Amino acid sequence: MPDPARHAALCGQLRSLIGADSVLTDSADLAPALVDHRKLYQGQALALLLPHDVEAVSRVIGWCNQQRIGVVPQGGNTGYCGGATPDESGDQLVLSLRRLNRIRAVDAENFSMTAEAGCILANVQQAADHADRFFPLSLGSEGSCQIGGNLATNAGGLNVVRYGMTRDLVLGIEAVLPDGQILSNLKSLRKDNTGYNLKSLLVGSEGTLGVITAATLKLWPRMRSSATAFIAITEPAAAIALLARLRATTGESLSSFELIPRIGIDLTTRYIDGVSDPFAQRYAWYLLCELTSAGSEPLQDHLQQLLADAAERSEVLDAALATSERVRAAFWKLRETIPEAQRHFGPSLKHDVSVPVASLPRFIHEASEWVREHVPDGVLVCYGHAGDGNLHFNVNRAEGAPSEPFLARESQIKRAIHDLIARYDGSFSAEHGIGRFKREELQRYASPAALSAMRAIKHALDPNGIMNPGKLL
Ligand SMILES: Cc1cc2nc3c(=O)[nH]c(=O)nc-3n(C[C@H](O)[C@H](O)[C@H](O)COP(=O)(O)OP(=O)(O)OC[C@H]3O[C@@H](n4cnc5c(N)ncnc54)[C@H](O)[C@@H]3O)c2cc1C
Repeated sequence: MPDPARHAALCGQLRSLIGADSVLTDSADLAPALVDHRKLYQGQALALLLPHDVEAVSRVIGWCNQQRIGVVPQGGNTGYCGGATPDESGDQLVLSLRRLNRIRAVDAENFSMTAEAGCILANVQQAADHADRFFPLSLGSEGSCQIGGNLATNAGGLNVVRYGMTRDLVLGIEAVLPDGQILSNLKSLRKDNTGYNLKSLLVGSEGTLGVITAATLKLWPRMRSSATAFIAITEPAAAIALLARLRATTGESLSSFELIPRIGIDLTTRYIDGVSDPFAQRYAWYLLCELTSAGSEPLQDHLQQLLADAAERSEVLDAALATSERVRAAFWKLRETIPEAQRHFGPSLKHDVSVPVASLPRFIHEASEWVREHVPDGVLVCYGHAGDGNLHFNVNRAEGAPSEPFLARESQIKRAIHDLIARYDGSFSAEHGIGRFKREELQRYASPAALSAMRAIKHALDPNGIMNPGKLL
């Protein structure tokens, strides 16, 4: 049972530690921070903390460690696994990073930037652009997710095929460890082999090993030319053949390679304003593919030639090249609004999986057959970052079917798909992390050696278990 007198006393101590304006307890202020983006979890909290700087974060975490109070770091709260939502006890604190939102430095010559954790991802991209540089991390949520959240989840997104995941984009990190110490390593070095890589450990740790307060990020030259095509293909195997040829012949230019099923077009054109089908005819599968370059290579000509060759092999059935920025944006809008359109269509069961790229067609075939046979009240909406072997293998409730019996089979469906993924040597969480939603999956699919190493690391850094309790492990 919550103890109001104890809670009031604790909040009083917190106010004197970090200032009254940084400790919110009003239920209207707390409400948006207590529920996750997908509305799977509804928590309670003692207070919402909004520290202004890293020193305040350090004071509060040190105090929580002494008091044994759990802290849930929160960025933009766009995560898909419930990692930023407190539990139902009302005893935990939510620590929002949104006031740590300064770009501390952009070093164009060194191709690097230091940004505080609470910077919105789109603002980080913009700051790079203003310095004639490019920061490649790009997600559908970039207008609201924070770079700290991206680091904590090791986010993937639309440009992984060329630049890698968030972990590959970081040079240095600043974080508050569970005992309140500030780990300050914002060096912008490309080479630094000095002991355990703590930066890599914190990236992807989902708030369980400390609070990331800033990072030094890698930048690239600004892209000056691009070629974007929306392509109709016969089947996923054609996508993989085209991908291999693109990679072999365009070198580093291939930056995005997204697979979209017909239903992705049906749903977005139905539910999202301003989305239209790029083709007059209906096809079963599509690709959205983008080449970019900082130089002035004739990317359009190259892509056109490649698509013409693929059409001769009957892999490509139709293709539309973006002739203007407006058309390019329209192609991307179609792809990026699939999750929103799915939400309008009804409840869905989401699986963020990956397999080795070459196995993608076989996996799609086998898993789709399973869904067809075992989930007659479901519709498969399987799309994603095919260039990385990553699929959002989602099953929506079929139109008109009752929700309850469909949702009641969530764990059975999840088990079947994740067991199949394990047989393909794949991952049950390609880019969304573990949070609370996939904790049992980690226990089931991670090896005993990996699990015991993870527990040992957690215990060594956070012996009192104050950092994001009940998440990941
Ligand atoms: C429309 C849409 C599209 C998306 N597309 C993608 C995609 O393509 N690829 C992808 O990977 N994800 C995607 N996501 C998921 C989500 O946006 C990412 O996981 C993102 O990185 C989360 O950032 P956030 O700031 O919202 O973090 P939050 O949701 O607030 O937090 C996520 C986790 O990180 C921890 N955390 C947050 N900030 C910190 C910090 N400063 N220090 C320590 N821990 C912290 C939290 O405790 C929690 O465990 C998408 C989400 C939406 C809604």
